[in-house]
Amino acid sequence: MVHSAMRSFGHEQVTHFVDDETGLEAIVAIHDTTLGPSLGGTRLLPYESHDEALEDVMRLSRAMTYKAAATDLNLGGGKAVIVADPEMKDDDMMRAYGRMIDRLGGHYITSVDVNTGVDDMDIVAQETDHVVGTSAGLGDPSPITARGVFEGLRASVEATYDTPDMTDLEVVVQGVGKVGSGLAELLVEHDATVTVSDMNVEAMDAIARDLGVETVDPGEVYSHPCDVFAPCAVGGVINDETIPQLECDVVAGGANNILAERRHAQVLHDAGVLYAPDYVINAGGLITVAAEHTGKSREEARRDAIAIGDRMRSLISRAEREGTTVLEAADRYALDLIEATDDEPMSQVAN
Ligand code: NAD
Repeated sequence: MVHSAMRSFGHEQVTHFVDDETGLEAIVAIHDTTLGPSLGGTRLLPYESHDEALEDVMRLSRAMTYKAAATDLNLGGGKAVIVADPEMKDDDMMRAYGRMIDRLGGHYITSVDVNTGVDDMDIVAQETDHVVGTSAGLGDPSPITARGVFEGLRASVEATYDTPDMTDLEVVVQGVGKVGSGLAELLVEHDATVTVSDMNVEAMDAIARDLGVETVDPGEVYSHPCDVFAPCAVGGVINDETIPQLECDVVAGGANNILAERRHAQVLHDAGVLYAPDYVINAGGLITVAAEHTGKSREEARRDAIAIGDRMRSLISRAEREGTTVLEAADRYALDLIEATDDEPMSQVAN
């Protein structure tokens, strides 16, 4: 399975770590280090099988290669998963994990992801230098992520309506957690008409009260008429079932893996909906941890995230020129950069 997965995804190195003493089982997947050391978070989940964990880490690490390259960061793509119940996580397990990361000699740099946080990275940092997202670092990247999503969304609006003016632009924000709430706030500041939605009704009502905006039931979020639909909750929300319900011209949000499948970018394109590739506009998180790695300040990271707007403008132009989706243009940009640096052409595309 590992061998065939490595061949089909094009990975450089996949390492399986087991530590009986602490119950740690981890897989680190280094997809591509042509542009620099691989960087990506550690996801901790109670995967039902080894194959499920492997598939997840292979897919996620490959996506990191594209995200880093499309953002012009001198970094490669990598990701790690720890197969465990979040309840089982303890300091000994994270320390053992840190020792294992250290053995990779800096080819993989880890950080936070689902079910791992700053406290965990502080423990990992006791065993290795190849970690970012610690309490000594640049802090929560979410506001910078939200800013980048806002800039990418604004560039998409400009391309669609020939004006960046957001006055009365109707935007539905799905998921008002750390990224979605930050995005909603920026949109309101720019006079957009925002509607928020979240499975957590209490959180949704609180944000709606704070910002003075309307809410829509999570079950009706896709069919709610708007100009821009901004998914900021979970992945896979743009799929065969939801696309026919959409009443918007632009899909631009902060969630990872917004499309259930890569082909949905083309389905949206054919329906006249501009899709802003998630990995391009939500790169503010990666920009922040990369800044931490290279010793840049939070303000520099924020400026780099603001540049996501220009990046989107240039990708939209390329897509128009080449008659493709913006996702295709972004993938092509990333691949061109990697191939120009390396002799070995990469054969795969993200998702
Ligand atoms: P979060 O946990 O703070 O917020 C997620 C919110 O979505 C929660 O309020 C949750 O109740 C809500 N939600 C979950 N499922 C939902 C559903 N089906 N319908 C409606 N609401 C739902 O997470 P976050 O940090 O804001 O991240 C949001 C998304 O952005 C994730 O996909 C994450 O991977 C991605 N992302 C985050 C960052 C970052 O810097 N935080 C960076 C890049 C990408």
